[in-house]
Amino acid sequence: MGSAAGGAPGTVVVVGAGVVGLSTAWFLQERGVEVTVVDRSGVAAGASWGNAGYVAPAFSVPLPEPAVLRYGLRSLFDPNAPLYVPRTADPGLWAFLAGFARHCTHRTWQRSMRSLAGLNADCLDAFDELAKGGVGAPAQATSVVAAFERPEQAGELREEFERTRLGGQETWFADGAAFEVPQLSSLVRTVLRVEGQRYIDPGEFTRSLAEAVEARGGRIHTGFTVRDMVREGDRLLVKSTHHDYVSADSVVLATGAWLPELAVKAGVQRQVRAGRGYSFTVPVEEPVPGPIYLPAVRVACTPYQGGLRVAGTMEFRPPDAALDGGRIEAIVRTARPFLRGVDWEGRHDEWVGPRPVTADGLPLIGASRVPGVHVAGGHGMWGLTLGPITGRLLSEQIVTGERPAALRPFDPLR
Ligand SMILES: Cc1cc2nc3c(=O)[nH]c(=O)nc-3n(C[C@H](O)[C@H](O)[C@H](O)COP(=O)(O)OP(=O)(O)OC[C@H]3O[C@@H](n4cnc5c(N)ncnc54)[C@H](O)[C@@H]3O)c2cc1C
Repeated sequence: MGSAAGGAPGTVVVVGAGVVGLSTAWFLQERGVEVTVVDRSGVAAGASWGNAGYVAPAFSVPLPEPAVLRYGLRSLFDPNAPLYVPRTADPGLWAFLAGFARHCTHRTWQRSMRSLAGLNADCLDAFDELAKGGVGAPAQATSVVAAFERPEQAGELREEFERTRLGGQETWFADGAAFEVPQLSSLVRTVLRVEGQRYIDPGEFTRSLAEAVEARGGRIHTGFTVRDMVREGDRLLVKSTHHDYVSADSVVLATGAWLPELAVKAGVQRQVRAGRGYSFTVPVEEPVPGPIYLPAVRVACTPYQGGLRVAGTMEFRPPDAALDGGRIEAIVRTARPFLRGVDWEGRHDEWVGPRPVTADGLPLIGASRVPGVHVAGGHGMWGLTLGPITGRLLSEQIVTGERPAALRPFDPLR
């Protein structure tokens, strides 16, 4: 096959073995490309392991919106609030948050929603293609139950779905009953069932993707921290901090919340910040029928290995900062009143992971300034849902040299 200098690449190095990088590797293989995936730690070592596992296009909407701004300002520095910015935040983070705030208008939200709707429309189909192609851990079809204390809170979610409809995305939902979900407490008065969604064990799914990539002849090198990319003739050398290298015709940077470290070397100036989320698993008295979303406290719960995975919080700290037990306790304090039959003291698998958040709420998918180097990241709250479709569209762009229309709004150089 051809090279990075012209024509379709025969070989590609993907940096980052999360759901986005591995999906891209798999879809590149579909198009006959030989792939090597490298990761500084291991498969699913970043945000792709402990997330809530919702494959839920209905909720995949732009993060910056007026309500989030109002809410964010109210909750700044409140250690119990789902959104947390440490007082010691660096000036770069404040500049990022100011940029985020500038995007919190209805007009920008509608425009961004239209862009995301283009990805959401085919995201489940991309999961189906992976399942048909032998990737294990298929997503379970489900409705997501959104549970509220007061009917007017459900009204806010209905309004959001009305706005997404105007943004080109139809969502089917219906009134539900709290008694249908054994885990909902008597505090819950109103329930909305959001139809046509799915959920998955995200760690198992990402591992299955890695196995499928290897089974088709791809190589996966872990413990390989990339520090630089250098062109040598037709090839791109991807160099590690240990002075090893791998080379290929093209490179895809899919390093999640760490994206700017390498992307800036490829001329991508857009910031990506870690909006860190926490999760843990609790034993339950009765089986959990499906995902439960508690919008008032921004907590997402999912059936997970016979128990319930509970996930929440958006904490703006560096991606590698240590887990803060106080954030887990804040999730327990705020979610506990909504749920029953849950053994909070028996919780395990406490985890923190960095959502790759952009200031305009849109991912960065496409070519960088350096020929042959591509970027795939910045999916924020919805990188699991959008990982496979990202991989499918980006692999098309890399191999054909034509950018699919659906990717136009996500140009990393915008
Ligand atoms: C609590 C929580 C709940 C969430 N719930 C959902 C949900 O329900 N549904 C949904 O769709 N999304 C959800 N998300 C978001 C989703 O998890 C992320 O958007 C997604 O996992 C991002 O995937 P990624 O592949 O871009 O990044 P990551 O999974 O973070 O992968 C990046 C990889 O790059 C590697 N890397 C970094 N730097 C280097 C380097 N220099 N060299 C080599 N390797 C490097 C890292 O080790 C890592 O493995 C949630 C996130 C959190 C935190």
